[in-house]
Amino acid sequence: MSFWSDLLRPEFAEFKPYKPVHGSFRVRLDANEAPPMSSRVASERLAREFSSIALERYPDAGSDALRDAIARHLGRKDDEIVIGVGSDEVIGMLVTALSRSRSSAEPPTVLTTTPTFVMYKMSARLRGQRVIEVPLDANFEPDAAGLARAVEMAAPHVVFLANPNNPTGTVASLPTLRRVIEAAPRSLVVVDEAYVDYADEHRLSLLDEYENVAVLRTLSKVGFAGLRVGWLVARAAFAAELDKVRQPYNMSSVSQRLATVVLNELWGEVEAVTRSVKAERARLEATLGSMPGLSVTPSQANFLWLGSELSAEKLFHALAERGVLVRSFHERGGRLANRLRVTVGTPAENDELLECLRAILQS
Ligand SMILES: *Cc1c(COP(=O)(O)O)cnc(C)c1O
Repeated sequence: MSFWSDLLRPEFAEFKPYKPVHGSFRVRLDANEAPPMSSRVASERLAREFSSIALERYPDAGSDALRDAIARHLGRKDDEIVIGVGSDEVIGMLVTALSRSRSSAEPPTVLTTTPTFVMYKMSARLRGQRVIEVPLDANFEPDAAGLARAVEMAAPHVVFLANPNNPTGTVASLPTLRRVIEAAPRSLVVVDEAYVDYADEHRLSLLDEYENVAVLRTLSKVGFAGLRVGWLVARAAFAAELDKVRQPYNMSSVSQRLATVVLNELWGEVEAVTRSVKAERARLEATLGSMPGLSVTPSQANFLWLGSELSAEKLFHALAERGVLVRSFHERGGRLANRLRVTVGTPAENDELLECLRAILQS
C-alpha cells in the first residue's frame, strides 16, 4: 500500500489521467473539433478584441457580457445561464452540487447511457458517487423503457443524456426524453447538446415545460475548442444555486471577450462552417456506406460512428500508420470492438481518410 492510497478515494484506481493521443498526424479526426473559420475579417476582428484586453486585471467574475451574449443567442434570460470552463467544468459543478445523501442505501447517483461521453461517469466516480449506465439499444439509440426503469429503481440525483450522443451521433426522440423526464421527478435531467449545431432540432423548450430539466451547450464543437467555453441553461432558481460551486474567476478574460465577439458578431461565419461540415458528413456517409466491409450509423453530429468487419483495433492502427488519427473504443470490447468514431473534417482531410480506407480495405 502506498502512502497515497490511504488518502485517495478508492474510485481513483478505476481511471487513468485523460490523455489524448500525442504525436504528429497529417489528419486528426479524433476529437470532434470543427475546421477553423476561414475569413480574414473574422481573424482580424478577434485579434483586435484580444489586443484590447487588460491582462493585468482579473476577469469579470460573473462573465456578464458573455452570459448576455449567450442569452440573446438562445432567446433566454441571463440569469438562466451558468458558465463553465468547457461543459466539462459544468458537469463537475453539477455532480458536486447535486450530491445530498438521501439515505445510506441510496448514495448520490448518476444515471446515463452506454456508450456515451465519459466525463459524466468520471466526474461522478471521482467524487465517490454511484453511476448506473443503461446500454443503448441495437440501433445505438437510448432505451426509453430501460432508462425509466433505472430511474425508478435507483432514484438518481442527475440523469445525463448526450443528445446527439457521443460517440454514436444518434438522438433521443422527444417521446423518449419526455418519458425519462416524467419518470424522474426527483432528478435533474441534463440534456447535453454539445453537437446541437449539427442536429435537426434542439430541446431548449423542455426547460419551460419541466422544472427538472437543464440543457448543456459548448463552443468546443463549432470551432472554438481552444477557448474552453461551455454553459448550462437552467431555471434561474437552480442556476443561482449552482453558481455557488463555480470558481469566481473560472472564465479567463481572453475566453470571455473572444467568445462574446463570436456569439455577437461572427455567428454567421460559424454557421458557414457547420453547414459545410454537414454537407461533408452527407458525402462521407454515402461514400463510406457503399464501401465493402463498412457500415455507418446515421449521424446528427460532426462525426460518424463506423462499423467495420475488420476489428476496430486493426483499422485504427492501419489508419494511424498512414497518418490519419481517428478514435477507437476497442479497449472496451463487446460491441465496441468493431466500431470507430471519425470526426468530419475539411474536404481535403475527408478525401485523405477515404483514400486510406480504400487502400486498407483492399489490402
Ligand atoms: C465534447 C463534449 C463535451 C465537452 O465539452 P467541453 O465544452 O469542451 O468541455 C460535452 N459533452 C459531450 C457529449 C461532448 O462530446
